[in-house]
Amino acid sequence: MPWSSPRVKRARTILAPMHPTLARFPAAGLLRRAALLAAFAMPTLLAQEKSPPVYQDPSQPVEARVEDLLGRLTLEEKIALLHADSKFSTAPIPRLDIPRRWMSDGPHGVREEIGPYTWAKAGRTDDFSTYFPTGIGLAATWNPDVARAEGEVIGEEALARNKNIMLGPGVNIMRTPLNGRNFEYLGEDPWLASRIAVNYIRGVQSKDVASCVKHFAANNQEDQRFTIDVEMDERALREIYLPVFRAAVQEAGTWAVMAAYNKFRGEHCAASDYLLNQILKGEWGFQGIVVSDWAAVHDTRASALHGLDVEMGTDLPYDDFYFAQPLLKAVQSGEIPLAPIDDKVRRSLRVMFATHAFDGRPTGAINTPAHQAVARSVAEEGIVLLKNTGNALPLDLANLTSIAVIGENAVRLQAHGGSSSEIKAFYEVSPLEGILHRAGAHATITFAQGYRDPADLSHNFTDPVLIEQAVQAAKQADVAIVFGGLNHDLGNDCEGADRTELQLPYGQDELIRQVVQANPRTIVVLINGSPVTLGPWLAQTPALVEAWYPGMEGGNAIAHILFGDVNPSGKLPCTFPQQLSDSPAHALHAYPGENGVETYKEGILVGYRWFDTKNIEPLFPFGFGLSYTTFAFANLKFVPGASPGDPIVTAQFDLTNTGARAGAEVAELYVHQNQPGLPRPEQELKGFQKVFLQPGETKSVSIPLGHGAFAYYGPDQKGWLAEAGDYQIRIGGSSRDTPLTGIFHLAQTSLEK
Ligand code: BGC
Repeated sequence: MPWSSPRVKRARTILAPMHPTLARFPAAGLLRRAALLAAFAMPTLLAQEKSPPVYQDPSQPVEARVEDLLGRLTLEEKIALLHADSKFSTAPIPRLDIPRRWMSDGPHGVREEIGPYTWAKAGRTDDFSTYFPTGIGLAATWNPDVARAEGEVIGEEALARNKNIMLGPGVNIMRTPLNGRNFEYLGEDPWLASRIAVNYIRGVQSKDVASCVKHFAANNQEDQRFTIDVEMDERALREIYLPVFRAAVQEAGTWAVMAAYNKFRGEHCAASDYLLNQILKGEWGFQGIVVSDWAAVHDTRASALHGLDVEMGTDLPYDDFYFAQPLLKAVQSGEIPLAPIDDKVRRSLRVMFATHAFDGRPTGAINTPAHQAVARSVAEEGIVLLKNTGNALPLDLANLTSIAVIGENAVRLQAHGGSSSEIKAFYEVSPLEGILHRAGAHATITFAQGYRDPADLSHNFTDPVLIEQAVQAAKQADVAIVFGGLNHDLGNDCEGADRTELQLPYGQDELIRQVVQANPRTIVVLINGSPVTLGPWLAQTPALVEAWYPGMEGGNAIAHILFGDVNPSGKLPCTFPQQLSDSPAHALHAYPGENGVETYKEGILVGYRWFDTKNIEPLFPFGFGLSYTTFAFANLKFVPGASPGDPIVTAQFDLTNTGARAGAEVAELYVHQNQPGLPRPEQELKGFQKVFLQPGETKSVSIPLGHGAFAYYGPDQKGWLAEAGDYQIRIGGSSRDTPLTGIFHLAQTSLEK
């Protein structure tokens, strides 16, 4: 059942703290009840036990409960809350009824049970979950409402699986198209990623489950991920790499942040005073916990004093964790004062109380039709139509008798891949299954594998037998649909390594070239989580679809798009370069670093900010995506804010569906400053709205622009500077197609922190 019933708190027996002698017995709960009964014979004791301790009283303010419980903890118990006691938990404290705190990966579903004391899968039968499209597919929806819905489902499933903290979303910005974890993240633009992340977190946390946004910060490659030392200028940090984390903290109120593996300006992120104490907790006022990435701590004192709150990890005995016995001893010897320990404990308790960990949470739900429908709608809204010459799509089953489905990705199941983000899906509809469901009764469907993984990612490896079978299948069919792209093998879209090239692996370019030659009516569908380059076959191929890793309903979603039940409305959340050397970090030879240090020489010019400023033609631009209908933008006007608290200005315009099908267009708004005091990118996304329109329908769209829409980070001012002057506002359906433009004059310069 979907979670819809009013929240029912489990009735809780209100008791005084357990007497220490009772706490030693396993059946302590029964004994406590016996003690309570006995209390009827002892009037004074009864009077004491009538009122629960403050921390056990849900009607008390969170901070009062925190202080009350903090005061009852011994130093050893405090330390126990600050480090792992299994792969994904911290220890319970039965004496005080503090429950074990369970965490789970994320981000696109609740991970199957591990260990708990080894990395082996627990082999349970109750740990399936809904498998959503991975982060990049969610970002491609450009729809924060969908992100909220996904967050709510993940929250409900986390409840049903008794998880307190979900390790996600992953929000590292796509700096290089080669990053092995791009598939988990939300693309290259801080504004788009922020809007998606904020709503996802709000959804999860609305269910009494904390989100742990990750990986803070500058964890933008898998290559040397444990050791790489990232150097970048302050503007790049503030304008590109931090905004999503800041929005997660200040707008979504995320209860946890994961400190990354890598170093930042010489310090490990889990011991970075600048990132954790000064920025996150100081400037942003973060009140929750900083959790280390697994085994990201290297020094007890540095992490304890520089802002880490909870150490999680992998291989050490748990007592040997930096935040276990070594921390206890350091406090006992006076090397580390008690105050930072109390601060860490307060934070842990605050998160537990705020998410009702003590009060009985709702039971949640798993595997409901409603959850599956959300997974399908994320997939449908995130699929991007990249090419559609001569209306090759949608396919009309009334005029088709045979379809050749080609390519290993038509049948490959993806849920289990990618490493920590793997999901044990209830089911996964492959693209071939989706097509069979939708079209099997109307057309003959054949399948040919086409290519195979020779297990070493060889780009030019081809299997002539498989290609020949595919060519024959394509020749004999009215239409051929090739499912290619990448997969979650190490070295593709997978944690632990980066890709080495942008080209499609396993000789797919040669396969597709031959299939297109055999049947000019060929549609190529990509399943992948990061940009790829495509061979010369693209010019001859009428239709190209980017489906990402579309989750457990992916096959159905793809079929709905191909056969026109759903009109595509996804847009690219990242630039697809024509070649790797066009991409900023690679053009400047600023990847993968030298001698363990990586200087982000491109600064703020990441993704389309680089391509647009340097005038480099991408293969497909940021924000691009076609529809089966057409749209027109018109009548731009600027409405200034009327009273304090209003946005500075609101861009208002009309958006019309000028075609014959219902569909959705994303109105994207980019800002260009005419004469900035410091160099700025050619344009930056500062607002967007996905608008659903019936054929012929027009809607008036309003996109508010606040201070942040005009400001850049002034390193001298140490704040966000919006300079008086002219700004060009560009609006359209892609970063490279903004038919509506106007000049807005900002009257006054202002600085915000
Ligand atoms: C990953 C995290 C993940 C953690 C726990 C780490 O290797 O970087 O994203 O949450 O493992 O599985």
